Amino acid sequence: MIPAQFDYETPSTLSEAIALLGQHPDDAKILAGGHSLIPAMKLRLATPQILVDLGRIKDLSYIREEGGQIRIGAMTTHYQLEASDRLREICPLLPECAAQIGDVQVRNKGTIGGSLAHSDPAADWPAAAIALNAEMVAVSANGERVIRADDFFVDMLTTSLEAGEILREIRINVPSGRFGQAYLKVPQPASGFAVVGVAVNLTLNGGGSCESIGVAITGVASKAYRASGVENAIRGNALDEQTIAAAASHSTDGVSVNGDLYASETYRTHLAEVYTRRAIASAASRAK
Ligand SMILES: Cc1cc2nc3c(=O)[nH]c(=O)nc-3n(C[C@H](O)[C@H](O)[C@H](O)COP(=O)(O)OP(=O)(O)OC[C@H]3O[C@@H](n4cnc5c(N)ncnc54)[C@H](O)[C@@H]3O)c2cc1C
Repeated sequence: MIPAQFDYETPSTLSEAIALLGQHPDDAKILAGGHSLIPAMKLRLATPQILVDLGRIKDLSYIREEGGQIRIGAMTTHYQLEASDRLREICPLLPECAAQIGDVQVRNKGTIGGSLAHSDPAADWPAAAIALNAEMVAVSANGERVIRADDFFVDMLTTSLEAGEILREIRINVPSGRFGQAYLKVPQPASGFAVVGVAVNLTLNGGGSCESIGVAITGVASKAYRASGVENAIRGNALDEQTIAAAASHSTDGVSVNGDLYASETYRTHLAEVYTRRAIASAASRAK
């Protein structure tokens, strides 16, 4: 349980961090909260020779509103997002999701950027990011690029971030109109990670029908995914019990569902349907 030897760098600016990654393209790894990377290093699943700690870089930890968007610095901790009264008002899915991550210690150290960049198939943030149509801002020696959440998660522990890129910021359009959101999760009792987690972000029109909807599911497959079949069955319709139940039956369409000792493929498929139904109903009931 002791990691292999490594060097430790503490850049104080983003440019220094980018330069360090450029100097060590094959052996450096970014360290954020360390709550996924350090356990992986202790198990020797990761053996970076250099850790580039982002912890001393100023201005990577913030929650701002700018240009109609919520902008979140990559080093913002789960707890900061959980504790934000402003987010509870304008985008409650974020604090609701944050509050369900691990335990207090994990939420105090773990960061949203680290979680998204890690792309654990059972992590909570990826589902919220997809449901909210988040944009990821990545920086490197080549400049900055913006990646849509739908294009960011490639596979288990794999994102579309390229070597040398640092996830700097997450952007989410401030929800408007009659919007409702929910994040519901079945936690694995030993780890706290999602056996199934469902994020929903919807808006209703004046007549009470669904105008727009984002539904994303984590814990079920090799990566968090958009449940397009569910969205298509809900969009444009009144959110009555039958419509929601029929839509939720599409929650694992086209997905290869994971099975393990705790939750078989059949059980996970069932949980995904039940929790999708509940999350949509909950979001709809919150849309004012
Ligand atoms: C006991 C325990 C329970 C947990 N329970 C849950 C849970 O219920 N739900 C959940 O979602 N998570 C859970 N986690 C994981 C936790 O949320 C981690 O904090 C998170 O996955 C990683 O964030 P971090 O800041 O710790 O990243 P780190 O561990 O420091 O880094 C993770 C990976 O991302 C890369 N990285 C980090 N930051 C950046 C960046 N800005 N740009 C590019 N790459 C970057 C690193 O190089 C590394 O590969 C749990 C962890 C533990 C230890």
